[in-house]
Amino acid sequence: YSYYNENTILYLDGAYLKASEANIDLYGQSLHYGYAVFEGIRAYKLADGTMKMFKAKEHFDRLKRSCELIHIPYNFDNEELIKATYKIIEDNGLTEAYIRPLVFCPPNMTLKGAHESRILICAWDWGAYLGDKQLRLMTSSYQRPNPKAFKIESKSAGLYVNSILASQEAKEKGFDEALLLDINGFVAEGPGANLFFEKEGTIYTPPPGNILPGITRATVIEICQELGIPLVEKLFTTDELKQADGAFFCGTAAEIVAIGSLDDQPFAKPFADTLGKVIQAAYKAKVFEKEFKREAQLA
Ligand code: PMP
Repeated sequence: YSYYNENTILYLDGAYLKASEANIDLYGQSLHYGYAVFEGIRAYKLADGTMKMFKAKEHFDRLKRSCELIHIPYNFDNEELIKATYKIIEDNGLTEAYIRPLVFCPPNMTLKGAHESRILICAWDWGAYLGDKQLRLMTSSYQRPNPKAFKIESKSAGLYVNSILASQEAKEKGFDEALLLDINGFVAEGPGANLFFEKEGTIYTPPPGNILPGITRATVIEICQELGIPLVEKLFTTDELKQADGAFFCGTAAEIVAIGSLDDQPFAKPFADTLGKVIQAAYKAKVFEKEFKREAQLA
């Protein structure tokens, strides 16, 4: 996959540069120790032709909070970063964009905290991240990192080695994606997405604590409230999950994606007959700022 070409423009520390001409120092803490923080944001083309980032403020606020949690200095103005992001979306002529802000640290081979940080924002056209088929999920042999060993609510680069290992393992075993448990054996999340399941008309999802507090997860909760769908946050095991009527992953890159089976055990209902399908349509409507009528969906 080509993320950039010779004309691509990115944003680096206040400047707009060609991706092919920008470079970073090879002696940085971020590269060597994974001491960096990032975001993933999507922008959609609205009916009036303008590009609109979905929940831009929430994403940049989380970027800042992620940095604070692991003590990376954050001397950036989020309103300016949002303006800069719109500029690179426009300058690159993107009509559908995945945006990747990354805060990283300057040269320093010690394990002392950084006194300054830098910011990169790049964007590219990224289609459906997990595809649009029903996923075959596998319970990973990897757990999510111990919350006492890391600030797991920080979207830190180093944390993603865990995600890469889990995803790799699932794919090597012929599955589409992994499902990771927490240190106590409860279901946590996917390598890059939060999980919801449905049982007898109620939607369930793990509570904050052992998961990344996803912005899409918060949006799904909002949608459930708007549509009057009962929602419960609680811890559950894979045994309980396997008895579900249906399940889905959600995340900025993945959006809302159906899960067909877990460890080769299919869910009771076809995704098309679940609340997940309604939530998926409501999410699409939200990102495109369109009105959503549930009746029209169920008809
Ligand atoms: N969990 C993990 C581990 C993730 O990497 C992501 C993607 N950022 C999510 C959940 C979903 O978060 P969001 O909806 O904010 O993209």
